[in-house]
Amino acid sequence: MGMARKNVDVVVVGAGIAGLYAMHRLRGQGLSVQGFEAGSGVGGTWYFNRYPGARCDVESVDYSYSFDDALQQEWDWSERYATQPEILRYLEHVADRFGLGDGFRFDTRVQSATFDEDASTWRVTTDQGDAVTARFCVFATGALSTTNLPNVPGRDSFAGEILHTGNWPHAGFDFSGKRVGVIGTGSSGIQSIPLIAEQAAELKVFQRTPNFSVPACNRPLDEATRSEQKAGYAERRRKSFLSGGGSPFVPNPLSALEVSAAEREAEFEHYWERGGVLFGKTFADQMSSLEANDLARDFAERKIRAVIEDPAIADALVPTDHPIGTKRIVTDSGYFQTYNRDNVTLVDLRAAPIAAIDETGIQTTDAHYELDAIVFATGFDAITGSLDRIDIRGRGGALLREEWTAGPQTYLGIGVPGFPNLFTVTGPGSPGVLANMVLASEQHVDWIGALIAHLDANGLATAEAAADAAAEWMAQCGELAAKTLFPQANSWYLGANIEGKPRVFMLYAGGFGNYGRQIAEVAAAGYKGFELVPAR
Ligand code: FAD
Ligand code: NAP
Repeated sequence: MGMARKNVDVVVVGAGIAGLYAMHRLRGQGLSVQGFEAGSGVGGTWYFNRYPGARCDVESVDYSYSFDDALQQEWDWSERYATQPEILRYLEHVADRFGLGDGFRFDTRVQSATFDEDASTWRVTTDQGDAVTARFCVFATGALSTTNLPNVPGRDSFAGEILHTGNWPHAGFDFSGKRVGVIGTGSSGIQSIPLIAEQAAELKVFQRTPNFSVPACNRPLDEATRSEQKAGYAERRRKSFLSGGGSPFVPNPLSALEVSAAEREAEFEHYWERGGVLFGKTFADQMSSLEANDLARDFAERKIRAVIEDPAIADALVPTDHPIGTKRIVTDSGYFQTYNRDNVTLVDLRAAPIAAIDETGIQTTDAHYELDAIVFATGFDAITGSLDRIDIRGRGGALLREEWTAGPQTYLGIGVPGFPNLFTVTGPGSPGVLANMVLASEQHVDWIGALIAHLDANGLATAEAAADAAAEWMAQCGELAAKTLFPQANSWYLGANIEGKPRVFMLYAGGFGNYGRQIAEVAAAGYKGFELVPAR
């Protein structure tokens, strides 16, 4: 792998789903592009999260690129929700098919990006000694790409293996015969726990907060189903781009409070059987009315209790601290049943928190657990974490992370005041992780590509989000969130999982389709809210 080019139109940071498409789309419109990726290969999330049980929770037929019909017609997904190895194979296939790999420098972390006001260019440097000048910077650095490894006292003295789900060893890890502790019961913990339990001699699950999880109802896809899905792709994608969450499903328009108890129960049952996050669509008011949400929560609680043999364990596993759906609903395969196994113990950290890790295991305030391996399923410094770790300096030397100490400020989740020609993909202020991230990435990259084309066609050098436009946008995001129940949970959507992060709901909660309309209107109005400055 050679050095990076010295002078390009665009630097793209990240070779995940968003960065790969950015490389393809921007090159395709005749721009020179230099990509950088900290990992050794493409895939981002699907390169790093190799833990047992890792799968998507949006159906693969939808959680895949739409930009090339031949690609979507030719690729065969083997299951309704593909596993991490299959998704990684798919992304490697996309990189090969469209010749994207050679545009990236791998094993290379971008350390800084500095705007030169005289030249209207960005200077980007890396930990491998690259220094590249670019007119535009596209940060496709991922919403869930910086792991959160809690600094538990004594952690580094542990003599066994320490693993993090978000940075799993490529060779895998054999838990056979081992005493294993898993810390964390978010999506990553809940997906991996059943499989680790099957292999390990003993598994202790250290749970601080229980989570809602709905069975995936995963199944292999047969040829007939695949053919039917492929034949319907155009309509499927059309609906997805108009939908609330970027997949072709719309919520039941009924209110949970309007229907009879029997009808309600039948609807909940029907949506439960559809599997995973689709349960969140059972009733239109489930995410805005606490009363409606309580009914969904009660149904989920009964489902959870029905599969757990010991009622005391069930008590500890039923979430009580947040409305269902205000943290991402987890999509599992046999999670709650795992606690019926003899080799699995639930350690309730609400009763006795972790005090320390020592050479031989985990010490809570009331017991010591001897372990050979500890799995941190403790999540990510989400949404802003990867951007915060780069020294991004805009006009006047302003440092992005300092500008964002009270919470991120963007216009449309794409542009940042004071940072001309810098664009974020699925960043703060966009629907981001509330939508199907593949389509959300395509939507952003297409929009950014069109903006760059507009600048070039009109002799314009820079586009910079106006401060008042960004302030209005973030106020709108706040208002949209306030109409929902989202702010009631201590979730990573609000930065609540990371000490010291401002508690701000960082996403656009008005729906993916509505968002798409809003950004299209901005473009149609000559990129209203952006200051477009002519080339000198
Ligand atoms: P990423 O895939 O995170 O890629 C960002 C890349 O940028 C990374 O490879 C990183 O190494 C690189 N990078 C960051 N900083 C730097 C730097 N300074 N220099 C160089 N490189 C850098 N979303 C869904 O919609 N549906 C799902 O089913 C789903 N399942 C998920 C399952 C797991 C286990 C996880 C963790 C997330 C899941 N998500 C899901 C969210 C997922 O992150 C997105 O769907 C998507 O993969 C993100 O793609 P991306 O390209 O934006 O970011
Ligand atoms: P997460 O949802 O943030 O969960 C982290 C877990 O670790 C929580 O249970 C948290 O408890 C616990 N934890 C954190 N610090 C702790 C500490 N110091 N001591 C004890 N417990 C601690 O992270 P995640 O599970 O990796 O998921 C993040 C997101 O990635 C998901 O919401 C989803 O969007 C995506 N994802 C998707 C899938 C999928 O199914 N496709 C799979 C994995 C991830 P508290 O709640 O008490 O903080």
